[in-house]
Formats: sequence, C-alpha cells, structure tokens
Amino acid sequence: MIQLFLPLNFLGFVYREIRRALTDLENMLGLLNRKAAISDDKDAQPLNATKAAIRFENVSFSYDKQRPILNNLSFEVTSGSKVAIVGASGAGKSTLSRLLYRFYDVDAGKIYIDEQAINTVTLESLRQAIAIVPQDTVLFNTSIRENIAYGNPTASEDEIDKAISLAHLDGFIASLDKGDKTPVGERGLKVSGGEKQRIAIARAILKGSPILLFDEATSALDSHSEQAILSAMREVAQRHTSLVIAHRLSTITDADKIIVMKQGQVVEQGQHHQLLAANGEYARMWQLQQSEE
Ligand code: ATP
Repeated sequence: MIQLFLPLNFLGFVYREIRRALTDLENMLGLLNRKAAISDDKDAQPLNATKAAIRFENVSFSYDKQRPILNNLSFEVTSGSKVAIVGASGAGKSTLSRLLYRFYDVDAGKIYIDEQAINTVTLESLRQAIAIVPQDTVLFNTSIRENIAYGNPTASEDEIDKAISLAHLDGFIASLDKGDKTPVGERGLKVSGGEKQRIAIARAILKGSPILLFDEATSALDSHSEQAILSAMREVAQRHTSLVIAHRLSTITDADKIIVMKQGQVVEQGQHHQLLAANGEYARMWQLQQSEE
C-alpha cells in the first residue's frame, strides 16, 4: 500500500505546485495587462490644462476585483481652487491621486481635466500638467540646489532661487555652512521630514504645472516645520489648482472645499465651517482630532 501511496502523494504535490505556478503566472499576466493598459490612446491629443479644473464623474476602481476601493465617486475641483480630501486611513484618498496621475485606469466612470477625459490625452502631457508633492520625497546624493533643480532641468538660476524662497527654504539653507551646495541624501546631510517636503514643494514650483497634488505626511511634524510647510503651500496654492490629501484637519481649514471620504465614497463636502455646522462625519473627525491634540 505504501508503495502506491508515496508516488500518488508525490503526484499530488507536483499537481499543487503546477497549479500554484499557473496562478502566479495568471496574477503576473493580470498585472502586466493592467500596466500595459496605461498607454497612449492611438488618437491621444496633448492635454490643454489652461484652467486646470478637475472632475471625477462616477468613478469606480479596485486594485483587485474582490475588493472595491472607490465606488461611484464624483467631485469637482474648480479652476484655481484648493480642495482637500479627508477620511479615515484606507478610505481611498491616495488612490484618487494615483488615478488622476494615471498610474491606474478607472474601472468605470471618467476623470476630466478641463473637460478632456484623461484617458484620451497623452500621458506625457497629463503628467506634465500635475506636480506631486509626495508624503516621502526621494533625495539624491547631491547638493540641495541640484535636488531642487531636478523639478525642471531647464530652470534658470533665478527661477531656482525664487522656488527656494517660495518654499520657505531660505532660512534653513542659510543656516548651513555650505548653503545650497550642502550635499543631502543617504550619504549627505540628513534632512527632516518637514524639510524634505519643502524641497518637494520647491521642485513642484519649478515644474510649473497648473495642478498641484499635495500628499500630506501622515507622521506628525513639529509645529515649526508644519507652519513652514503650510506657509509654503499657501504661496503655491495661490498659483495652482490644488488637491491636498490631508491627515491633520487643522492644516486644511482654509480649503475652498473639503471632501470627506468613507469607504470609497464621498459622504460630505463643503467648507470647514459648513461641515462643522452639519455635525456629521467631518465634525466627528474634527472633535476627535481636537481632543487628541
Ligand atoms: P491613508 O490615509 O492610510 O494613506 P488612504 O485613504 O490614502 O489611506 P489608499 O492608499 O487610497 O487609502 O488605499 C485604499 C485601500 O486600497 C486600502 O485598503 C489599501 O490597502 C488598498 N490598496 C492601496 N494600494 C494598493 C495596491 N497597490 N494594491 C492593492 N490594494 C491597495
């Protein structure tokens, strides 16, 4: 009996391994397909984003089919306004920014910039129109100035100086022996989370895109850093349409519109005082954060 059992057992093992390998291959091909889907439409036109108004219309999206992340979501960011997206961790806030930048395509619905559906314009023109200030910025092993200039390799020295000043980095740079020639990155000066975000803001200013996507760091910054970032952001927001993914509600009370997300849907939207008066989800989040602070 054992002579029969062992080979059968082995065959069972081989069968399971082949099944697993096929599933892995299927998943990998799924991923490749998804990636391959993000390419220029054959009739793609360059985006014209002069007004830089954004509209999400009935957008649904999931990373994998089992788990819907965004569910029939709609909202608008009017030209030149500052809109904040808030909601619990995992609500789908960063997913919105990934869809706007077309790291992924929506499953249903449409995203428009100035009434042009973003899947019908060239990826290059779309990504040129959006400057991202990420939560955690990658710094290269070179000087602070070169790290900022990376935002636009053709920028003039004057433009770089202006971006440094608008991003409120001049005080920090002046405090360093080698000023803006100071090497940063893994093998250079360690810069704080707040300074890194201001370097990212300066890069975004230099890029000169009409839309700014700001992903606020989740980790709390000291109040000095936070204030410096807020002033830098206010300067930049005056010149852009800005979408801010916020974790601390105290940083976005001045937004033209606050969009409250819950489980992949917009549950409330309005200005800070209106949402407080409505006494709903936002007011509850605000009270919770106030009591924690
Ligand atoms: P946080 O405030 O914590 O940054 P968020 O609201 O920005 O959260 P998202 O990052 O948009 O949330 O994620 C929404 C959901 O999608 C989460 O449940 C997350 O686990 C899932 N998710 C995010 N990225 C991926 C991915 N690449 N593959 C699969 N699931 C993902």
